[in-house]
Amino acid sequence: MPTVTRRALSLRLLPALAGLLAGGCASARPVRLPGSFDAAGRGPDGARLRIRLATGRVADLDLDDYVSGSVPAEAALGGLDPATAGAVAEVQAIVARTYALANRRRHAHEGFDLCATTHCQVYSPLSRWPADIARLAANAAQSTSGAVITYADRPINAVFHADCGGHTSPAATAWRGGSPPYLQGLPDGYCVREGSAPWRAEVTLSDLRGFLNRHDATRIGRRLDTLEVTEQDAAGRAAQVTLYGARTVAVRGEQLRSAINAGLGEHAIRSTRFTVRRAGRALLFEGRGFGHGVGLCQTGAMARARFGHSPLDIIAHYYPGTAVTDFHALV
Ligand SMILES: [Zn+2]
Ligand SMILES: [Zn+2]
Repeated sequence: MPTVTRRALSLRLLPALAGLLAGGCASARPVRLPGSFDAAGRGPDGARLRIRLATGRVADLDLDDYVSGSVPAEAALGGLDPATAGAVAEVQAIVARTYALANRRRHAHEGFDLCATTHCQVYSPLSRWPADIARLAANAAQSTSGAVITYADRPINAVFHADCGGHTSPAATAWRGGSPPYLQGLPDGYCVREGSAPWRAEVTLSDLRGFLNRHDATRIGRRLDTLEVTEQDAAGRAAQVTLYGARTVAVRGEQLRSAINAGLGEHAIRSTRFTVRRAGRALLFEGRGFGHGVGLCQTGAMARARFGHSPLDIIAHYYPGTAVTDFHALV
């Protein structure tokens, strides 16, 4: 019963949005978008979002069509009870819309806005999804239509990851540059309660040397003796790792993770929340979590939804100090 479901989802979210807009509070000021958009996400010339699909073809999409195809591609909705699935889909829809608006010009120099891979946000048309999942995603895009997460009246960089393993990290741990106030890192007991399992990975020094030598930033030369975590953030993530060998090189933990995973797959070193020790001719990594650990933790968000937290409460938790604003009414 799509209509009933849509109404139920809308009723849960929209009174809170209306409340935000009614009181003349800070979030009721106009949203300043990069470039100028209308309520469908079209640019000043009426252009729709230009997305480069996995096939390489570029498609022009309305904002909410893009959001609805990104929701099931980025959030696991199968197997959840209907209320939890609805809330998780709404959270992901608001995050997807916000991310798209904040990062719209990311690939402008290549002639499109966003790519459909994990580099930007994964997107796959709704026709590719099972009917029940497609309906959930379409309903979430529609019931949240116009809702964007803002800080200082601008859409935030709404980054997210699969599982923080108990503590999210400041943006500066994962990427060069600073950490906006809403991406500072915070404890998260909910993903742990969900059974976020510890992981381990063994990588031989010889394999690791090969992976590191493929990239200029991590090039170590003919010999690798060991490595050491030389800077940890408050969440316990390896912010900096020093490699000792023919050369001594300090790299960010995420650079090490991506160099290893380029060779062994993204499930090898699942996060930089690890400890590492020598085990014979190999290094043993033991850690928690999956993904860069910045912003919204999807496993924690799902657990919170199951415990009855609303989509707006979940967003307020993972992006502290932000507001959710209806830009349909404001732009
Ligand atoms: Zn991209
Ligand atoms: Zn978490």
